[in-house]
Amino acid sequence: MGRDVRVLAPSLLLFLAFVGSAGAQPRTWRVQRGEALSVIAARFSVTVEQLREWNTLEGDRIVPGQELVVGEPDPALSHTVARGETLSHIAAARNTTVERLLELNEGLDADHLREGQVLRVEALEDRHHIEYTVRRGDNLARIAERHRVEVSDIRRWNPRLRGNQLRAGSMIHIYSEIPESVSESVGRPHHGRLIHAEQLPEHHAGYYLRDPSRAYGTLETILWIQEGVEAVLDRFPDSPQVRIHDISNREGGRMRDHRSHQTGRDVDFSFYQRRCPSGICPSRRIRPEDLDVERQWALFEAWLRSDRVEYILLDYALQQPLYEEARRQGVSRADLARWFQYPRARHDRQGIIRHYPRHRDHVHVRFVCPDTDESCR
Ligand SMILES: [Zn+2]
Repeated sequence: MGRDVRVLAPSLLLFLAFVGSAGAQPRTWRVQRGEALSVIAARFSVTVEQLREWNTLEGDRIVPGQELVVGEPDPALSHTVARGETLSHIAAARNTTVERLLELNEGLDADHLREGQVLRVEALEDRHHIEYTVRRGDNLARIAERHRVEVSDIRRWNPRLRGNQLRAGSMIHIYSEIPESVSESVGRPHHGRLIHAEQLPEHHAGYYLRDPSRAYGTLETILWIQEGVEAVLDRFPDSPQVRIHDISNREGGRMRDHRSHQTGRDVDFSFYQRRCPSGICPSRRIRPEDLDVERQWALFEAWLRSDRVEYILLDYALQQPLYEEARRQGVSRADLARWFQYPRARHDRQGIIRHYPRHRDHVHVRFVCPDTDESCR
């Protein structure tokens, strides 16, 4: 038994070394007692010269416990210093900062970079590694936006991508702070359901959640709600919370008190109001002059500008002050006409912001179908 364990140990260690460095990171190996560089080189099918280069070793001296890079570093995550390059050159070329490079490369002497030295340029362990399959009609800007990264990031992680040519069905690597969306909105808001829903988390600065068991949506809905209130907080750090009433049930489908809200895209919010006792804006019937138009408009504008919303339903009387605010802020005529039903009549079927009866005490927002949810209507 004891003997078996000893026999197993090295391969187990090898396995662990690979698991610990799977995918994004260069392969590393912790030097064992008695191991020479040549032994390690042979084990990983590389040359001693490569080991020296990757680890900026001068001679053959290594010590047990030392961590060595034993595989070609991933070009997306490393940078090989060229002659004459400085940290600020590298930072600019790799779309990062000198501070970040110093953080990632412990013990790095910024004044003595050597040609051939390999630097880490990113730490992506904390991000979600997504193997994204390109869909018909995708482009890099859209994929980047969907995963909250930059087009330049995607290019860096996928050095083989050329130009804007994307082949449907091919796979690209993305390291995102948000998980891959597995939620799915199925059918119509009045007759549909929700798969792998995401629950809206608490947000102490932005909103108050009335009932978490009725606060399930698509991942996109959840992110967009947070994005919206954060846009308000960016502009107005001292803002009261709005109340979020209902989104959908965990599995979607029929929901008490609502006809829609079945597919994780409908959300009811209280209005930002001039006076919100104890920092939470209540769901109560308000007059146009009670509306905090600056904050309310900041919220709507964040969604409208990024095409997140299909409808914003509220009482006709509340549209005018919002319209005036938008105009005062220089929103173009074309956008005003596209976004507002007002000053057209209350039953005119144009505009994203529309009249809806009994919506004087809350606003009903319907987010668009996530573009990956193919059965969403
Ligand atoms: Zn509603």
